[in-house]
Amino acid sequence: MKWYKHLTTGRTLITNEELTNPPWVKVFKNELEAAPQTCKWSTDDDTESTVYATACGHLHMFTAGDIADNEYKFCPHCGLAIEES
Ligand SMILES: [Zn+2]
Repeated sequence: MKWYKHLTTGRTLITNEELTNPPWVKVFKNELEAAPQTCKWSTDDDTESTVYATACGHLHMFTAGDIADNEYKFCPHCGLAIEES
């Protein structure tokens, strides 16, 4: 951000563009867009395993059934929507 000091009053001035769309908002938007929107859960395909490895680094096991059977919509560890892969 460019800051301008008014020569006689010494007040700090910024441009209209910077007032309506300051750079820190752009940084925040970029971080939001780059952040994962879903948590991928995957199982070991070779076995009939019900242990899921979550993208956020946890293991989750259902005592019976799978994600759909247990009506899981969101990862209990990170809070993102579960994406089965
Ligand atoms: Zn997660």
